Amino acid sequence: MFRLLKDVNTLAVVCSQWGDTGKGKIVDLFADWADVIARGTGGANAGHTIEADGKTVIVHLVPSGVVRPDKMNVIGSGVAVDPRQLVKELGELRKNGIDCAGRLMIAHNAKLVLPSQIAVDRMNESVGKKGKIGTTGRGMGPVYAQFADRSGLFVNDLLNRDTFARRLKQNLIATRALIRGYDQPDTFKKIMHHESLAGGMFYSADQLFNEDAIIESYLNAANHFHEMIADTDALMRGWFGKKNILLEGAQGLLLSVNYGTYPFVTSSDCSDQGLAKGVGLPHRAIDLTLAIVKAFYMTRVGEGPFPTEMGGHESEIWCGGQANELVEPAGFKTVRELEKAQFGNVRLDDPDEFKLGIAIRIEGVEYGVTTGRPRRDGWLDIPLLRYAKAVAGYTDTILTKLDVLDKCPVIKLCVSYTYDGPTYSIGQKILQPGDILETAIPNAEVLEHCRPNYLEFPGWMKSTRDLTSEDDFPRELADIIKHTERATGTHPLVFSVGPDRKHTIFRQ
Ligand code: IMP
Ligand code: MG
Repeated sequence: MFRLLKDVNTLAVVCSQWGDTGKGKIVDLFADWADVIARGTGGANAGHTIEADGKTVIVHLVPSGVVRPDKMNVIGSGVAVDPRQLVKELGELRKNGIDCAGRLMIAHNAKLVLPSQIAVDRMNESVGKKGKIGTTGRGMGPVYAQFADRSGLFVNDLLNRDTFARRLKQNLIATRALIRGYDQPDTFKKIMHHESLAGGMFYSADQLFNEDAIIESYLNAANHFHEMIADTDALMRGWFGKKNILLEGAQGLLLSVNYGTYPFVTSSDCSDQGLAKGVGLPHRAIDLTLAIVKAFYMTRVGEGPFPTEMGGHESEIWCGGQANELVEPAGFKTVRELEKAQFGNVRLDDPDEFKLGIAIRIEGVEYGVTTGRPRRDGWLDIPLLRYAKAVAGYTDTILTKLDVLDKCPVIKLCVSYTYDGPTYSIGQKILQPGDILETAIPNAEVLEHCRPNYLEFPGWMKSTRDLTSEDDFPRELADIIKHTERATGTHPLVFSVGPDRKHTIFRQ
């Protein structure tokens, strides 16, 4: 099954789109081959769903490899660790019969997420002057910003009470000034009472943050995992070349702070380079990178340009909050329930693309694992894939969720864009209205003015769920795959046709 890993010691699995491409399943699959599974970027903003042995396990911070017994898992130095979230996840895993003791290591130099950083993330989103990003509210932006401005804390600080107290005090000086500058005390108070901030436990009316409560809560949390804290960078260097190492990506290239559609990105580098660095290895240590591509539709959660979005602006508004506001008044708990009740009869042949988008969302269960938000969906975008290949060099891919469009009679593939914005300089290039772009420019100013040009293919209209070989792919599906390969210069080595481990096909 893992012939493609014959000469591989270190494998990276990353996403080449905006995340949510099914990394959880793929990492779990290759975890069978691996001795060590390591995360190196992001934090609890991620949400990985794994279906195995009839159980569904969701992890945010802990590597997906924990589902398999006897595997070593590492939360690397590039990760932002929220100790309270970690304890919660360890507890939930234990309830599922998964004990991480002795096989989960946490980098002592991983970034520590503070309640104040979660609060700043949420304040930026609700009253910030820089515009909404649609973050997951897990504190990522402020954590990585404070790391770069040298006021951040590390997981290791939890092992030394005095250092922790001193560095926290220093850190909060700047954060308090920032919050006071917003001059929105009511919003701040409300945010500090959110359940992700322990319902007000860290709030102080005059000091804004209750330092003592943070210290007690964090040191208590650390009691649950302090024996897991280690110099994982050194461990990884020691294992390199001797053990099978699987590097687990989070988010996707187009959300990378370095390569993504800035500013609508997350705050770590979710490319395979960032991933290697985030576990203490050089990029050249990776023998094979498999880049996941959701096909033949794609999704994005949060704000930002999305040229192939089905239903365009209508979908952006619906998924950006409109749907959420209807959930409670209509008596539902989630957007998923609301859409199922209100649009349960929409089909994959609906000529209205907004409705088609909802049908695909329901069929593909495209709702955020971390936030419950509906994911915006659109057609597969070749110019963005060409960009991902150009910038990160991804040539070996995994196509996932192929089965979702089994009943879709027409498949559209975006093969280029027509730029229809104002004249715009980008380096030495001057973009003019009417210009055709075959490779995307990830700059949000440009991307928001790119209109997709489509090629239409007949759908395969057959179930792919039970197929076991690429030779059995319906001709229509094989044609679209071949076209995508040619247009992007990439080669799929694995195909996923369902959520379970067994729904996986390897190229021979
Ligand atoms: P943050 O990572 O919470 O700061 O969010 C920044 C942007 O990245 C937002 O558009 C989020 O929706 C998006 N994002 C963060 N994590 C994920 C993920 O795991 N899957 C998909 N989108 C994500
Ligand atoms: Mg996800």
